[in-house]
Order: sequence, then C-alpha cells, then structure tokens
Amino acid sequence: MALITKKIKGTEDVLPKQSYRWQFVENIMREEARAYGFKEIRTPVFEHTELFARGVGQTTDVVQKEMYTFDTKGGESVTLRPEGTAGAARAVLEHSLEQDGLPIKASYFVSCYRYEKPQAGRLREFHQFGIEEYGTQAPAADAEIICLAQSVLDRLGLSQVHLEINSIGCPECRARYNQALKEYFTQYKDRLCPTCLTRLEKNPMRLLDCKSPEDKEIAKDAPKITDYLCEECEAHFTEVKKYLDAAGVEYTVNPTIVRGLDYYTKTVFEFVTDCIGAQGTVCGGGRYDGLIEELGGKHMPSLGFAMGMERLLMVMDAQKIEIPDNDKTALYIATMGDAAKVKAFELLRQVRECGLIAETDVVGRGLRAQMKYADKIGAKYSVVLGDNEIEENKARVKNMETGEQTELALDESFADKFSVLQ
Ligand code: ATP
Ligand code: MG
Repeated sequence: MALITKKIKGTEDVLPKQSYRWQFVENIMREEARAYGFKEIRTPVFEHTELFARGVGQTTDVVQKEMYTFDTKGGESVTLRPEGTAGAARAVLEHSLEQDGLPIKASYFVSCYRYEKPQAGRLREFHQFGIEEYGTQAPAADAEIICLAQSVLDRLGLSQVHLEINSIGCPECRARYNQALKEYFTQYKDRLCPTCLTRLEKNPMRLLDCKSPEDKEIAKDAPKITDYLCEECEAHFTEVKKYLDAAGVEYTVNPTIVRGLDYYTKTVFEFVTDCIGAQGTVCGGGRYDGLIEELGGKHMPSLGFAMGMERLLMVMDAQKIEIPDNDKTALYIATMGDAAKVKAFELLRQVRECGLIAETDVVGRGLRAQMKYADKIGAKYSVVLGDNEIEENKARVKNMETGEQTELALDESFADKFSVLQ
C-alpha cells in the first residue's frame, strides 16, 4: 500500500522532541493569565457559520476569503473557527455568564483555521493564546490587558518587540472618518488593488490594513483617525495611555493600525517585531464594544487580545532564547533477567512519584542495546539491575555524563537518595 506521509499544506506538526518549547511558552501564558485573574475557557473547534459571519464581520478578509466552511451531513453550514473571540462571546451569551459578575474574564488556547497563502509566519492551521474580558468600558481594563500581554512577552525573554497603539473610535467617529478616507483614496482609484476598490465602497478603513506595497504607500498620507475622534473616545484613549505610562509600558501611537476584524472600537493595539520577516505581528487586540450586541445580546463593552503561538516561537528562535528542556529522562533502569524486571517496576514507581522521569526496557532488548538506547535519549543517570544486585539489594547508579557511580540500596529509600544526586 502507498505510504501516506503528506500533511495538508499550511499545517505543521509539533513533534515529541519539540513540544517542550510549546509547553514552556504555554505555561508562562497560563501563569500570567492566572495572576491577572483570567480563567480558561474552552469552546468547540467548529461553530455555526453565521456566528463568524456576524461576529468577525462580513467585510473582513477572514469571512470573505479565508474560512473553512462546509455543510454537515445534516445540511447545516459550519465553520472551523478562524479566531477565538466569536466562540467565547457565543459561550458568554449562551451560559449568561454575566450572572457570575462583571467583568467576565477568560483566557484561551485555540487552534485557528484560515485559508491564507502559506508562508513563513502564516499558516492555515495556527495557534493562539488569547484573553477575553466582557462587561467593562473603563480604560483601566484596556491598559490592564496590554500590561498582561507585555508581562507574557517579558517573561518569554523577548526583546525588540514594540507595542503600537491606536484608537479607532466609536461608530460615530468612524462614520466621519470613513467619509474622509473615501475622499482621500478616491483620488488614487487607478492605483488601488482590486480588493481595495471594493473596500473603498464598503469599508474604507480596511484599506489601511492592505498588505500590498503600493496601497501601503498611498495609505501613508491618508487622514488620521486620531484627528476624527469624538470627545469621549479621545478621553478614553488619553486615559489608556496614562495607565500605560504609570505601569512603565512603552508604546508608540500608530494611527494606521485598524486591525483585521470588523468588531473593534476605540483601543486597538499590536505587538510587532521585525526580526521574523514580513509577518511580524505577534499579538493583536483591542476593544470590541459592539460585538455582543452584534450577536444579539445586550450592550456589553468588551476587549481582548490574541497572540500567535507559531510567530512567538519564531521570534524566540530568531533571538536565540534558550528554552529549558525538562523532558530529559532522569533515570534509565537497564535490566537482566525476570527478577530485575520486576524490581525495576517497583523502583520506577518510587522515582516517578518524586516527579522525575524514569524509564526501563519495554522492548525486550539485551543489555548492550538497552544502554545504547539510554544514551540516545540522553538519560542523565542509568543503573543496571541483574541477579547480583537483586540478591545484594543494592546497585550502582551511574552519571552518564561524568561516569561517576553511587551505590544505592534498592529499598524504600531509593528514590529519595536518587533525588539528591540530581
Ligand atoms: P495579520 O495582519 O498578520 O494577518 P491578523 O490581524 O489577521 O494578522 P489576528 O486575527 O488579530 O491577526 O490574530 C492574532 C494573531 O494571530 C496575529 O497577531 C498573529 O500573531 C497570529 N496569526 C494570525 N493569522 C495567522 C496565520 N495565518 N498564521 C499564523 N499566525 C497567525
Ligand atoms: Mg490576517
């Protein structure tokens, strides 16, 4: 039979010897989210297509071009989630989470699916860590989630990742701004890409998010949203910056950040780096005060961010940040004979209960092959159990790197004494 060895384009495997890198990053994210009072939410990988159409926005690239949508056998249209917010918002509404008190604070790890052109830092299946907060309009909340994102990046040891913030106002500010943009871009109609021509009619602000170099150049001199903010939005933005200053978080105001999704209002932000090529945004977020209403709920101002796991790992690689590999086997027990095999099970249990990684032969190899394997997996210590050791009830544990040997009794004290050697 033909071998099936090809994964789907734009997807990646995380192999057993690489997963410690993911776990290191995820653990830091979990700890930081916890420290700020966010609890994990887990939602399904697919949802009714309409949820994303409404929650992400009809005029976005994600909804127009990138969704994995299919009809089920029952004839329902479902979509693999392209992002984490819509599902979380749906769950908030479905379970009336506001009853537990506001704000609702949730964090998530999700795989996302977007039919994009695969390239470095742009996949069709990728992963995000994200934060969701529902039921607060206070600028302190905006500043707080930005601080949380910054804490994660700091703890990962990243440098040269810059925070850029902007305010895209409320629907009223935006109506005036969109009009100004329309007038500005209409002058350059002949030079805009075809997608931007439709954006010009439907949602001119999206033009600022275009990735084509020529459109980017034109966008440089476009009117700035910050000149069109109403009093309330302006005051909100000022407050957010005040808190960030107080927390010592550095940022630049970049009036061209508009974010790719339709539901954003007021604060938007991105953490950007230029050390991994063109796809340099490692985190994007902001406020989406209209989202819950868009999904049929009562007005509930909300905010959040999402970090791209693959891109963060790329930055860590590019910056040569060492990630401790705690997955190395602490003790390999090689055995000769049945009695030794049985004894090994007793000792393994003790050692594992101490939180150490311990292994023995489960293949049926001879002693030499067992030692070769111990070497290959990089075991820190090994011990050989044979009839002699069982009889004398002691054995010599060997440090595989230095060759140093330590004699230990094969009784209840074994694991404790072995732990001390670590
Ligand atoms: P971009 O402008 O790079 O397309 P986006 O605005 O579409 O990003 P969001 O929807 O805000 O991205 O997602 C948040 C984060 O998820 C991004 O900042 C990025 O780190 C990551 N991300 C988005 N799309 C992809 C993808 N196709 N492959 C890998 N990571 C991605
Ligand atoms: Mg995108």
